[in-house]
Amino acid sequence: MVNFRSVGSLAYRMECGVMRKTIFKKLEAQGLIANYNRLRKNLPPKLPDRVYVWDGTLREGVETPTVFLTYVERVKLAKLLDEAGVSIINVGFPALSEEEKNAVKRIANEGFQQASIAASARATKSDVEACLDCGIKEIPIFTPFNGLNLQYRLKMSREQVLKNTIECIEYAKRHGVIVDFVLEDASRTPLQDILQIFEAAVRAGADRLVIADTVGFLRPLSMRYLVSHVRDGLQQSLGKVPPLSVHCHNDFGLATANTLAAVEEGVAYVQTCVAGFGERAGVAPLEEVVAALEILYDIDTGVDMKKLYRLAQQAEKSFALPIQFHKPVVGENAFAYEVEEHVEGMLAHPLLYEPFPPEMVEREPQLYISRSGGRQLVQKRLEAAGIKAMPWQIDEIVRRIRSLQESMDKGGAQMIFYQIKRLMRELRKGITEEEFWQIVEQVTRQKPKIPAPPLKVKEP
Ligand SMILES: [Zn+2]
Repeated sequence: MVNFRSVGSLAYRMECGVMRKTIFKKLEAQGLIANYNRLRKNLPPKLPDRVYVWDGTLREGVETPTVFLTYVERVKLAKLLDEAGVSIINVGFPALSEEEKNAVKRIANEGFQQASIAASARATKSDVEACLDCGIKEIPIFTPFNGLNLQYRLKMSREQVLKNTIECIEYAKRHGVIVDFVLEDASRTPLQDILQIFEAAVRAGADRLVIADTVGFLRPLSMRYLVSHVRDGLQQSLGKVPPLSVHCHNDFGLATANTLAAVEEGVAYVQTCVAGFGERAGVAPLEEVVAALEILYDIDTGVDMKKLYRLAQQAEKSFALPIQFHKPVVGENAFAYEVEEHVEGMLAHPLLYEPFPPEMVEREPQLYISRSGGRQLVQKRLEAAGIKAMPWQIDEIVRRIRSLQESMDKGGAQMIFYQIKRLMRELRKGITEEEFWQIVEQVTRQKPKIPAPPLKVKEP
């Protein structure tokens, strides 16, 4: 399988750089394709004109087990997010530790072109203070409010949580910052309780309200139901609805779909992480949400799609975690083709098998010669280079290309693959049970008396 980069009609390729979304309209006008996304019926009336991207790669993304970023890496990612046109960048959680607080404070002073720099706080005064100490101008204050969390995690009454939330928001607002109220696990909270705490938050001064699908439990239609009922409920009780935002986890692979469903109900702030990094299965990937909004919905996100790939590569490098090859938009194989029939089609017209021109995201198509074909691809390449070849010469070129790939036997390829996997595991193993109890013994001078259940500890 040989890879030829940037094959395809050059004129078309050059056009793509400037054509952007009009390319689909052009094909439609020529009667060559249908585009159901453009049907008025399929564009919900509440669709916003502009969506603002709120990125949590530096807050939630780093909660990926064993991921740790240096200060330089954090700043680099934050700057790239800013340059890409992300509206809000959540840079961390100052109350976590003194070290985290210092890092957030330094980032807040780095100077950004246009993004609002935010840092998270629980609904406690000390957490808000930690953010204010960093010179942060926007604070997402988060708390859950459903029975499960009140009983097993916060161990507080509803009244207490309401009181803390109101006090914290008022306190932050007195210091002139933007406050986003984030309702954790909102997707598993009864509607009347969501409305109760959202109303309290707005009356206390919250500027935006965030519905978090903390365990990725919603379906797109349930998301639309939830958003529309929250919106209507607030409109009824407050006579206004502040900007709404959603934070969707990807436990069922629905983070992007649920985020888009919320936008269909008028939500204009979407939370993402680069390449979908984050706890467990991660959160809605920045590049998927942006590409879908820009290309499938024709909504302006303010994000320069050409910067998405570079951002993903930087995050992959800093996180030392590989992005899956077939990941939409930023995966290695997102624009790679091997099946001979597809390759032939690509040569005739690239959009035959391309969902959108890869140039839109500053990428190139990659055509591979498969085991079963490749003659036509080689012939086209030679023609383009002005080389005249006899049919037997083309056959010979194809034969030689294939034998190169096949000289690497399957066993050898698998060995390399497992070595890479083993090294990856070593890179992110956390600490072992033995190492954990060794540390405990060094500090307490005691050995465990009863067997303890195993626990993976995040390092460092
Ligand atoms: Zn989250």
